[in-house]
Amino acid sequence: MTAYTPTTQDVFLPLKYAPTTSPYLRNWSSTYNHTPSLFFQPVSAQEIASIFRAAKERGKKVRVVGEFNSPGPGWHGEWIISTKHFRTVQITRSSSSSSSPHLALLGSGLTLREANALLASYSLSFTTIGSIDCIALGSCFSGPDHGTSAYHSLISSSARAVTIVTPDGEVRRTKRGEELFRAAGAGVGGVGCVVEVEWEVEEAFGLEVTFERIKLGEYLKDESGKALYDLARSEEFVKIWHFPHSLPSPLNATDTILWRARRVPFPPASPPPSYFSLLTTWLSHVLHGLLILFTMWVWPGAQGYVNGVLYWMAAWGLPKREVKRGYEAMLMDCKYSQLVNEWTVPLPHPSSLSSLLSSQSSPSQPSSPVSPALQFLRPFLTYIHPSSPTGHALGMHAPVEIRFSKCEREGEGFWLSPAAALPRRKGEKEEKGEKGEGKEGEDDLVMWVEPIVYTPLRLPPPPRFFPFFQSFESLLRLPSVSGRPHWAKAHFPTSPAELARMFGRENVEEYHRVRAGADREGTVWTRWMEERVPGGGRGKEGSAQRESEREGKRTGRWEDVMGSRK
Ligand SMILES: Cc1cc2nc3c(=O)[nH]c(=O)nc-3n(C[C@H](O)[C@H](O)[C@H](O)COP(=O)(O)OP(=O)(O)OC[C@H]3O[C@@H](n4cnc5c(N)ncnc54)[C@H](O)[C@@H]3O)c2cc1C
Repeated sequence: MTAYTPTTQDVFLPLKYAPTTSPYLRNWSSTYNHTPSLFFQPVSAQEIASIFRAAKERGKKVRVVGEFNSPGPGWHGEWIISTKHFRTVQITRSSSSSSSPHLALLGSGLTLREANALLASYSLSFTTIGSIDCIALGSCFSGPDHGTSAYHSLISSSARAVTIVTPDGEVRRTKRGEELFRAAGAGVGGVGCVVEVEWEVEEAFGLEVTFERIKLGEYLKDESGKALYDLARSEEFVKIWHFPHSLPSPLNATDTILWRARRVPFPPASPPPSYFSLLTTWLSHVLHGLLILFTMWVWPGAQGYVNGVLYWMAAWGLPKREVKRGYEAMLMDCKYSQLVNEWTVPLPHPSSLSSLLSSQSSPSQPSSPVSPALQFLRPFLTYIHPSSPTGHALGMHAPVEIRFSKCEREGEGFWLSPAAALPRRKGEKEEKGEKGEGKEGEDDLVMWVEPIVYTPLRLPPPPRFFPFFQSFESLLRLPSVSGRPHWAKAHFPTSPAELARMFGRENVEEYHRVRAGADREGTVWTRWMEERVPGGGRGKEGSAQRESEREGKRTGRWEDVMGSRK
């Protein structure tokens, strides 16, 4: 490996800000860190094009970064481009008589927090967002970022056009439905750097949120997944926080907090938190951290009781109700550093379950009549429950978060979206129509599952969590489950056969074809990308694999173990 030393030759790059050399970068959770040789902060698409061209000439690997939250090294490259100076704002409110949507053209470097406040000042709002708002809009479009709603898909599904600088140095605007757009959304920066996104936005709305206690197992009895499906659709926004705990009866009558929200008129903004509430939040994090440190390193078997105490601290006094602005209500207190690995599992409409195409099924041998969501959740919840030997030895942290998204329309969505249309048999396609849509109210869903492993003091988790994540993914990768990973979260490499099963061979091939056309030298195609989306380095002299040897070893305690599934 030859270390790159910037030379005066690089001055040819007409950049407003000179690149920083060898900065130490780390992600929010400190599970991954990286020192690229150059860190760029360009101010225009032309500057990015120029950086890509210079990288191409020198055979450098380049990745783009937003706000450094993703746990996986999606932004591991020799050169890194930050989008923080891309701050376009252009809001177009459509007239009340018009049927066209309100539009917001926003720079990829704006954070969701900035965008939410800005849109609110125009009485507008995104339809759905995730649990945190300190993320860049470019990442929000490029990663498969999602909120929770059985009536909406990924956050990026409300993007209708983007401006992107391809690694070959072209500045291109691409619209919903076009090939480049389908490769760019949820494509983790594989076709270049997104500089602007045009979003369809809505009239601002409030949410009335209700919190209730439930027993999750009650919703997993029906083999077809109907009870879980109906629960997911019981309000526009639904999420589940499951606490695997070992409290005695009657305290174990419930184990889950059900969060449901419905639209109400746009209320005033919540007041900023008082010093007292900031202090109590901080103290609760300290207490939580101390308990987790104890169970992580001293007595894992006690985690079931800790989860029980945490559950009852949160669930006491429920049901309760609160009204907030939509974008405030969707956020969550994510506490402190943590390791997360999140996947989707199909939750098809029960009436079309039998036609779901799994690699195991054929017309003569239909796939299992048990919903994939249940095929995953039932063994997984047993595995982590403190009453099972595996759960007792592991000490799984709580909550395990479960969310939902509506599947995208077939032939229109993003090729690598974890919420892409579910693969179906031919006959079913005809029945459901070309776009794969069901009758009113019969949409297919995906269920997002996210076990959270807290890492207080930024300490790496004990080694027993490595086989836990292996088992978690092994279940998800079963052909009958057909899980799909959230690209911007830590996960193990994927084989070509698995990738084809998850997203459909044709979709993967289309993605790679369009990607190769935008990045002829594999400038943004790193080893991490090739390991997760294999096939991108094919047929090229000095394949991505060989090129990537120059990238250097990825450092970061978690990534060291996440590099292999063996
Ligand atoms: C506490 C916590 C809570 C979270 N909650 C959620 C949640 O509720 N829902 C959810 O979906 N995710 C969630 N995530 C994951 C996180 O939201 C995503 O990883 C998000 O994309 C990170 O945004 P970022 O700006 O920090 O991106 P970064 O980590 O900086 O980058 C993410 C990826 O996008 C690529 N990228 C960034 N900008 C661009 C661009 N302009 N053009 C092309 N590629 C680009 C990068 O190369 C990288 O691969 C959570 C993460 C944390 C730490």
